Amino acid sequence: MTWHEVHVRYLLFDIDSTLIDTQRSGMLAMLDAGRELYGEGFTTDGVEYAGRLDPLIVNDLLSAAGVGASPFSIADFRAVYFAKLRLRLEVPGTAQMLPGVGGLLARLTDEPGVRLGLLTGNYEESGVMKLRACGIDPALFEVRVWGDESPLWPPCRDHLPPVGIRRFAERAGRSVDPATVTIIGDTPHDVRCGLSNGCHVLAVATGRYSAEALRDAGAELVMDDLSNTERVAEFLLRRGTLR
Ligand SMILES: [Mg+2]
Repeated sequence: MTWHEVHVRYLLFDIDSTLIDTQRSGMLAMLDAGRELYGEGFTTDGVEYAGRLDPLIVNDLLSAAGVGASPFSIADFRAVYFAKLRLRLEVPGTAQMLPGVGGLLARLTDEPGVRLGLLTGNYEESGVMKLRACGIDPALFEVRVWGDESPLWPPCRDHLPPVGIRRFAERAGRSVDPATVTIIGDTPHDVRCGLSNGCHVLAVATGRYSAEALRDAGAELVMDDLSNTERVAEFLLRRGTLR
């Protein structure tokens, strides 16, 4: 093992309100899908979205609509949801990268000791669609953990970091210490999934949670956005003993 390998840093980025803003296209497309399938009475009121996993959101929506979540109703809903999402994302100006994201990703992909990954509540289909709509190539991230990859039911974001760590380890051909992994996200769910797995957490207040709420949740560093590339990169790339 070389010095270089010892100091590799593994990063797992959330998508919505962390890397990109799609003006709530995901939620609105779910509403579109529900209305098309189940009528105008279908509502998303009272269902929590931010930081939650798509399978859980869909389960809640179908249950609230009195449809019930079965493999068939979920498959139908997903298919229409993806079609509606595509339409919404095609509207010019809907999808954009958040401040500093382009510069930060360019900086990190130039860094030899960094491995990039995604950890998101999105289904793969919707996550890929949203990133591409914002001009981000999903292939930039060598490990991708999607919202339907929780090994347990009910699915929970806290279950996802070990999936990402295992994939990084498989690619590296050696074990990966959670203390070399940082979760980057915009909600207390992101913060908690990092801390509960022994990972570091960088929170960014570009979603619906304030910097104070993210600090209270336990994030080690909270930024208003990711535009201060050097400060963010310094935190993500720091060498030596982390704790
Ligand atoms: Mg998010």
